[in-house]
Amino acid sequence: MTFCPTRTAKIDLDDAALLRYSRHILLDEIGIEGQTALSNAHVLVIGAGGLGSPVALYLASAGIATLTIVDDDVVDLTNLQRQIIHTEASVGSNKAESAKHSLSQLNSQINIIALAERATGERLLELVRAADIVVDCCDNFATRHAINRACVATKTPLVSGAAVRFDGQLTVFDSRVAGAPCYHCLFSEDGEDSDSPCATFGVFAPLVGMIGAAQAAEALKVLMGLGETLIGRLQLFDARNSRWREMKYKQDPHCPVCGDADA
Ligand SMILES: [Zn+2]
Repeated sequence: MTFCPTRTAKIDLDDAALLRYSRHILLDEIGIEGQTALSNAHVLVIGAGGLGSPVALYLASAGIATLTIVDDDVVDLTNLQRQIIHTEASVGSNKAESAKHSLSQLNSQINIIALAERATGERLLELVRAADIVVDCCDNFATRHAINRACVATKTPLVSGAAVRFDGQLTVFDSRVAGAPCYHCLFSEDGEDSDSPCATFGVFAPLVGMIGAAQAAEALKVLMGLGETLIGRLQLFDARNSRWREMKYKQDPHCPVCGDADA
């Protein structure tokens, strides 16, 4: 039987937590209420590579109660140029396990679950259902669509990011919000966007840090209900020329994943 984490029970912040997270609590927009939301949240991070590294580090440092990290890949020497959660000592180890090792040194007070597997189908659905939010840090198109389908089916918010060469992008999907678009509304499965993994094309190292940090920020904001998130807005970053731009997008009423089936 495979292990499946569940949503965490409500906890209040003790004195140590109040001190540890004080620089967040000091922010009016966060306060004790916001930190309590983080300290009770369960985040599923799919992929512990270039994007997953900063995502997991920031979520762990912010005190997310439970982090489930899924990755079936093994740390390779060529990963260390950008996958900052891994070290030379972890080359040859599973990425989820290596990430858990680093994260537990950063924050021993949270629950970190490392799953060395490639979750698909019912298993993926089970993991997504157990989480409050999913952060997609995978490196391929098919998995992104599978994660999207699981998030729409379970009405779980999804923070999506991608980075290759000098180009990065991120957005947020939240099917709890009526009329909110999903990943398929933005990128159809038979579209032009074929896989372009870093192994083939290369990637500018700090770019994955920037996109991953922005993904972590969006995840924290969704969990706390803070400010305006990137629902319906795709942010694109050109690291070559240091330019951010934004593209707005809407739900496709004929979307086979989130649209009205009768439309
Ligand atoms: Zn859709």
